Amino acid sequence: MRLLTQEQKEICEMIASFMEKEIKPNLQEWDHENHFPDEVYRKAHELGLNAFEAPEEFGGLGLDHKSAGAIYEQMGYYDSGLALTSVTTNLAWKPVLFGGTEEQKKLFWDLVMNGRGYASFALTEPGGGSDVAATRTKAVREGDEYVINGAKCFITNGGFADVYLAVASTDPSKGAKGLTAFIVERDRPGISIGKEEDKCGIRTTNTVEVVFEDVRVPADHRVGQEGDGFKLVMKTLDLSRPFIAAIATGMAQRALDEAIKYSKERVTFGQQICKFEALQFMMADMDMKVETSRQMYCHVLDLIEKHLPFTKEAAISKAYATECTTQVAESAIQIMGGYGYMREYPVEKIWRDSKVFQIFEGTNQVQRVVISGQLLR
Ligand SMILES: Cc1cc2nc3c(=O)[nH]c(=O)nc-3n(C[C@H](O)[C@H](O)[C@H](O)COP(=O)(O)OP(=O)(O)OC[C@H]3O[C@@H](n4cnc5c(N)ncnc54)[C@H](O)[C@@H]3O)c2cc1C
Repeated sequence: MRLLTQEQKEICEMIASFMEKEIKPNLQEWDHENHFPDEVYRKAHELGLNAFEAPEEFGGLGLDHKSAGAIYEQMGYYDSGLALTSVTTNLAWKPVLFGGTEEQKKLFWDLVMNGRGYASFALTEPGGGSDVAATRTKAVREGDEYVINGAKCFITNGGFADVYLAVASTDPSKGAKGLTAFIVERDRPGISIGKEEDKCGIRTTNTVEVVFEDVRVPADHRVGQEGDGFKLVMKTLDLSRPFIAAIATGMAQRALDEAIKYSKERVTFGQQICKFEALQFMMADMDMKVETSRQMYCHVLDLIEKHLPFTKEAAISKAYATECTTQVAESAIQIMGGYGYMREYPVEKIWRDSKVFQIFEGTNQVQRVVISGQLLR
């Protein structure tokens, strides 16, 4: 059960009606065809759904963290694709929020708002996802510019982004302490889009390789100081984790709702399958996971709003919710029998979509490294 304010309820209702009308009728086809529905996502952007974490002065909705959590959960309930596209734009924003100047904040949102409405967070490279210090992309200072060379892989929104928040090494001898973040406009010469990934799930998101070849950016596009990149990235991922948990919670709630609905309709041995205690207990277990995932991400958002430490709780929330979502979706398939396994019903998609939530924004092994690190401090 979510305790929402009137404003949050109204936004969630608006999202539900948008999703029912614009996304649901075509979702299966887009998923099947690995199609990124740019034209429909842009309609969502007109409602502010890509920028509700952006301050009002930069054209966003300027909502608080709890409202953002409720919105991400609601989007996840209907389509993890739009939710991830939006959370990624706001992921790219966070290093600028934490380390950027007022001019950089304006530049970032001007680029997003005046373009198609997407940003990308370009950190991962072929040689290192979890091991951020292994970043090979280099940024070399030449007068008032930096020249960036390197390749980033698995970049969400990468093919459609108006702006990249790219992490490069300005001093390879310093490892993590040599990393620096840059705002890089999409139309700078030297940027090219490589391979588009053919994924198991979240097939309505765009995941590509982004190559930087002698890309020149003005020195004032550097976010913070040289060497601040790692710190900014870690802070960013900390803050984004409860939102990933919120999306996952929405997906799990949807899988549970679909299973309950089906169990009331399906009759075997002369009775509805919801009358079987074996399935009732499965549904109870699923609900326990959904409710605890929700309470945990709301708790993290509470800590954030009260300016209390939240690193450990954010990692718990992300790891717990994302693992629960896959389990809940799998149980939903089981309750729905053979039909649950078919593309005609939405639960197999939730199951496929859910797995990657355990991998990105820090794998769930990395979350455990964070949690144990906090315990042993
Ligand atoms: C669909 C998708 C979208 C993505 N979007 C983005 C994006 O927009 N931007 C971006 O920058 N990245 C993105 N990523 C990349 C993602 O963040 C990385 O895949 C993730 O961080 C893991 O890195 P890796 O794939 O290199 O795996 P590796 O780091 O090679 O890990 C392999 C295995 O080793 C384990 N492991 C690694 N280190 C440790 C450790 N210290 N302790 C215990 N276990 C460990 C991991 O948990 C994993 O099981 C995306 C990935 C996917 C699949």
